[in-house]
Amino acid sequence: KDFQSLNLSRPVLKGLSTLGYTRPTPVQSAAIPIALMGKDVVAGAQTGSGKTAAYLIPIIERLLYKPAHVASTRVVIMAPTRELAIQVADVARRISQFVSGITIGMAVGGLSLRKQELELKKRPDIVIATPGRFIDHVRNSPSFSVDNVEIMVLDEADRMLEEGFHAEITEILQLLPQKRQTMLFSATMNSNISDLIQLSLQKPARIMI
Ligand code: AMP
Repeated sequence: KDFQSLNLSRPVLKGLSTLGYTRPTPVQSAAIPIALMGKDVVAGAQTGSGKTAAYLIPIIERLLYKPAHVASTRVVIMAPTRELAIQVADVARRISQFVSGITIGMAVGGLSLRKQELELKKRPDIVIATPGRFIDHVRNSPSFSVDNVEIMVLDEADRMLEEGFHAEITEILQLLPQKRQTMLFSATMNSNISDLIQLSLQKPARIMI
């Protein structure tokens, strides 16, 4: 089975081919069709499984089917560290490079606050963030809004809790619209993750690879 059998658009297939991806990994095969339907997804997936593209591909497809009329942030991806956020942004830029009009912004600690503020003012379609800095921007940048967010990803949710971001994530969940699609990825599952799933997702499909 290749990516074509997942009914992806031509620009996304082209983006994937520049990355050298021809066949979906198991987590991609399982997650992409479910996520394309707009359902919530929980996936137990390690780094190296291809989890990043497992959520980015359906996100980019969904943005492409339903273009927005005005600039607004429609997707928020939360990562535990700046390094992971930068990697995710890199993969997102590559997969979306042939899709016209998709914009990507960062809200990540350790990078220039001012530069990010200017970037977020333009309301990029996809914002890739670490929890503390994201909250900073929502609170302090009047021209940045999360009112139109349709999709949220919690990447490496277990690491996010280990890094001590529980309170921040809880706050972010309250800031985002209730009606949204949420995808949560975690290498390990434990009771803290179960609680977070309970708090953040609705009737999720569960993928265990
Ligand atoms: P991730 O688990 O998202 O960090 O991805 C792990 C590695 O697998 C990265 O180097 C990706 O570029 C690569 N990768 C992800 N999906 C595919 C695919 N379908 N085919 C080949 N390589 C992939």
